[in-house]
Amino acid sequence: MAVMRDLVRSVQPLVDLVYPPRCASCGAAIAAQDGLCLECWSTLEVPVIAPELGAAGKGLVPIYAATYYNDTSRKLVLAYKHGGRIALSQLLARLIAARMPEPDGTFPPPLLVPVPLHRWRLWHRGFNQAALLAQELARMGKGEAEVSALVRYKRTPNLGGLGRDERERVLRGAIRLDPAHVEKLRGRDVVLVDDVLTSGATSRACIAAIAAAQPARIALACFAQVDADHRFENP
Ligand SMILES: [Zn+2]
Repeated sequence: MAVMRDLVRSVQPLVDLVYPPRCASCGAAIAAQDGLCLECWSTLEVPVIAPELGAAGKGLVPIYAATYYNDTSRKLVLAYKHGGRIALSQLLARLIAARMPEPDGTFPPPLLVPVPLHRWRLWHRGFNQAALLAQELARMGKGEAEVSALVRYKRTPNLGGLGRDERERVLRGAIRLDPAHVEKLRGRDVVLVDDVLTSGATSRACIAAIAAAQPARIALACFAQVDADHRFENP
């Protein structure tokens, strides 16, 4: 699998010559390799008010969400995660970065910590979509990427369809802070990075793990936030 993926990536420029860039949502021909057509751009829904996530022990955690999860953002995420459009990480990160505050020059920059994948899923997919976003955000000056600060020890099933208690039971002990990162996170601002924020159960598990290191502040950055009134399967 991995060999095949590497092969596909190595011939990508050739593929681009034969197959010109397409809108990641509707498939219309576009100029740039990592973009959306104008029509799809206009259907992205940007949260007007910065939302917050209730997390035990940390109060409300600010959420920097680029968009609400709708048909267009769902297609973007699917193309990015499962459709081999890894270059979309730049577009998604750019939209997230636009929602994040400028780092305060007088303090160390925030640490950008991605939601971890279990190693089997990482092997299967070939990349952690949240880690790529954290690295892009770091390149855009939004902080320092710490891609291995959180570790997923347990393989968890799709959380869609589970009740709140059940989700928390499944996630218990699943995500922990890497002991080698505890000192690094202490007293620092930490931004948890994910592609999609669904029920918030996974984010809460990550925030609880990060909080154990006693950081200064915790925030959450994601590309698409599922509206609380809607329930989607984990894409
Ligand atoms: Zn389009």
